[in-house]
Amino acid sequence: MRCLLFACLLLATTPSLALDRFQVEGYMLPNGLQVLLKPGTQKGHVAIRLVVGVGMDDFSCADKELPHLLEHLLFSGIDASGEGGLEERMQALGGEWNAYTSNADTTFVIEAPAKNQRKVLDLLLALLTETRLDDPAVAAAKQVVEREDGGHYSHLQRWLDRQDIGHKASNQLAVELGLKCAERAEVHDLSREQLEQVRQHWYAPNNMTLIVVGDLDRLLPAYLERTFAELDPVDPSEHPPLAQIEHSAAAQRTLLRGWVGNGAKLHWLFPEPALDDQPYETLDLLKDYLGWALYRQLRLAHGLSYGPWSEREVFGDTVFLSLGADLARDDVPKARQVLKALQADLLQNGLDPATFARLQQAAVARQAWAVQGNSALADYYWSALGDYEDGHFSNPAKRLQTVSLDQANQVLRQLLSQPGYVRIEQPLMSDDTLMWAGGGSGLLLIGLMGAGLRRKRRTR
Ligand SMILES: [Zn+2]
Repeated sequence: MRCLLFACLLLATTPSLALDRFQVEGYMLPNGLQVLLKPGTQKGHVAIRLVVGVGMDDFSCADKELPHLLEHLLFSGIDASGEGGLEERMQALGGEWNAYTSNADTTFVIEAPAKNQRKVLDLLLALLTETRLDDPAVAAAKQVVEREDGGHYSHLQRWLDRQDIGHKASNQLAVELGLKCAERAEVHDLSREQLEQVRQHWYAPNNMTLIVVGDLDRLLPAYLERTFAELDPVDPSEHPPLAQIEHSAAAQRTLLRGWVGNGAKLHWLFPEPALDDQPYETLDLLKDYLGWALYRQLRLAHGLSYGPWSEREVFGDTVFLSLGADLARDDVPKARQVLKALQADLLQNGLDPATFARLQQAAVARQAWAVQGNSALADYYWSALGDYEDGHFSNPAKRLQTVSLDQANQVLRQLLSQPGYVRIEQPLMSDDTLMWAGGGSGLLLIGLMGAGLRRKRRTR
């Protein structure tokens, strides 16, 4: 109750709270539900995110789709009117909803008119507590999830995946290193009992965060005390450890993409080093720097690639920082030379101080306008929950500013002194090879026809 009074007081008295994006009204309900409320600048609207701390990483390869399947099932209806009836209720409230299952969490995303925020939350609560999982609903949800995953998992696709050439380059490397499951997880063997268990063990208030941003109802804290606070907590489940690098991978591989074409994609992937004292934004800045260096070298200086890129991607406990370029197939060796030279230059001379300072300043400046409006702010809180503590999110602009050139150079050396992994994606043959092959078989055909004619003449 104390936290309720506190929350009411804050919502009523601090319009300035709306200005500082890193400060929120955050408190925990007695059942463990974390609540984050934030008055937004846009009137008449609220953005709601309910983040449930269960994702695909919490399950073995065979069962990875369990949380995703459950997420779909929860939209199958709360009474005899079924899925359609549930959607009609949301329509009647003027809101829209969706949900997403990632490796780390399952999140319900709602946009709604401010005047109906409590009714919309009622509907969300009903979805969580009143949905009954029955076999026809499970079968229907399985079909939807299978379609989302690209249709039925064919024997050919499974074979390609086992050879790990069906994945995109970073995924393929992650499979090779043991950071990712080799085969796509399937839904048809998942049982209703398993789904009930996921719901029971993970869909508990002490494993959830409710974020509401926008034109907040003054009665919202009291409403939550009456409703969401009634959910029963459970003994928390342990998240299993994240996958680690377990195998070695080939230094270089060519991955088949289609049959004929003159394009290719070059990827050079580096597992990121563990940081000691440096802020993790150091690697964001290095990503920006390398992206710009690629643009200067591959596009402006050598005209080899129109849109080269740098990227950070997480697999299990590892992050890959990768350099990539779309190229003409014949230019792959040239582009590799350019990248090798860039690596050698960076290892020898380090980052150019002026360029680093400019990109760091740009990254800091971006923080001032990167998050606009209620929905973007709610999404930001969702993505930054790891940085939340006692009513505050830490400010990335401040962390970006603290990265020194020396620190960045240190991490850069650790990153680039590894050989990394090269993956080249290209079709089986180029247009020219096809022409040759086509021409060759054409000549063969003409030869055979000629021989046939000669034979005919002889027999005549
Ligand atoms: Zn889905």
